[in-house]
Amino acid sequence: MMKKILLLFLLSFKCFAALSIEELTWENGDTLLEFLQRNSIPMSLYYSLDREDRELASEIAAKIKYQVLKDDNNNIEQILIPISDELQIHIYKNKDNQYNLTFTPVDYDKEERILTLTLENSAYQDVYKESQSSTLARAMIRSFKGSVNFRNMQKGDQITLYYEQKRRMGRLWGDITIKMASIEINKNSKEIFYFNDNYYDKNGKDIESFLLAKPIGAARISSYFTTARFHPILKRYRAHLGVDYAAPTGTPVKSAGDGTIIFVGAQSGYGNVVKIQHSSGYSTVYAHLSRFAKIKKGQKVKQGQLIAYVGSTGMSTGPHLHFGVYVNNKAINPLSVVKIAKSELKGKNKEDFIKLISQYKQIVQNHIQDNRPNPPKEEEFENYIEF
Ligand SMILES: [Zn+2]
Repeated sequence: MMKKILLLFLLSFKCFAALSIEELTWENGDTLLEFLQRNSIPMSLYYSLDREDRELASEIAAKIKYQVLKDDNNNIEQILIPISDELQIHIYKNKDNQYNLTFTPVDYDKEERILTLTLENSAYQDVYKESQSSTLARAMIRSFKGSVNFRNMQKGDQITLYYEQKRRMGRLWGDITIKMASIEINKNSKEIFYFNDNYYDKNGKDIESFLLAKPIGAARISSYFTTARFHPILKRYRAHLGVDYAAPTGTPVKSAGDGTIIFVGAQSGYGNVVKIQHSSGYSTVYAHLSRFAKIKKGQKVKQGQLIAYVGSTGMSTGPHLHFGVYVNNKAINPLSVVKIAKSELKGKNKEDFIKLISQYKQIVQNHIQDNRPNPPKEEEFENYIEF
C-alpha cells in the first residue's frame, strides 16, 4: 500500500535503515505555519514562500491525510501534505541536514471504469449502492449540472456511467471525472460528455448551469485557474486554485449562489475570507477582502447577496478578489461552472469533440455487448470530506 510513497520518500533520502511512516490527519483550523512551529521545523520555510505559494499553503483541507517519515530517533525526515488531487507540499532534509519545502505533483494511477444499472429506487441511491462510492454518485449528479430532474426517473430506467478515478497508495484518491453519462428518463435517453473541463450534450452544446454566478460586477480576470503546472522559468510546480478578479478596494462581492455561510474571518495567505456551502457538494471561497458585509457563520444567503468588499488583505500585491470553487473540497476551475454566456463548440473544437464522443460511445457499447460486470465495490475515498 505504501510502496509508491515510500519510493518518493526514498528518492531523496540518504539512509535506508529504520524508517517509519506515520499517516496523520490534518486538524480543522490548523495552518502550515503552526504545523512547522509545533514540529520544530524552521518557520522560515513558510516566510520564504512567495504570494502564490502562501495562497496554496492555505489550501490544506481539514481532515486530509498526510504522511510523515521519521528516522529511528523519531526525527522527522520528510513530510507529504496534499493540497489538491494534483499537488502536494513536500518537506524534506537536504544533504546538509537542512529542511526544504517544495510543491511536487501527487503520484497516482488513473483507472477507467464503466458502471451500468437499471433503476430500482433513485439514481443517487442506486449508484451509491452499486459502487459504495458517494463520490461517484455526486459526480453523476454534478455532471448533468441541474439540466435534468433525476426525480422523474422511474423503476426500469437505465443509467450508464463511463468515468475515470485515481488510485494513490493502493486506495482511491480524490475526485472522479465522469467522461460520459447516459440516463434514461421515461424512455428518453439523455447523454452528457466531458470535454475541455466542461460538460456538453451530444451536439456540443454547453450544459446549462444555474447553480453559480459571477461574484463581482465588471472586473478583469488577472489570474486564471491552474493545477500543478510546471513553470519553465521558475523550474518548479505552480498552481492557482481559483480565479483572480482585479477590482478597486471596496467593490461589492456577492454570493455566487444560494447557500450557507460556513466561514467568516482571517486565514493565513488568503487574508479576510468568506466561505459558502451550496447544494450538490459545491462550496465557494472569496479571499483578500477588505471587510465583510453584515454576515455571520451559519447564516443563509441568496445568489447575488452582498457578502463583502474587495481588498488586499493576506498575501496580496494589489486589490483583487480571489474566487475559488470547490466540489467536495476539491478545487475546480470556477469558469467551468460560472456562466458567462451560452456557448457551443465550433470549428476544430467541434471536430475534436465529435471524434472523442464516438470513441467514448464505442468503448461503452463494447462493454455492454460483452456483458462485462460492474467494477468491484469501493471503500469510501480517503480524502472525501463531508461539510
Ligand atoms: Zn488568487
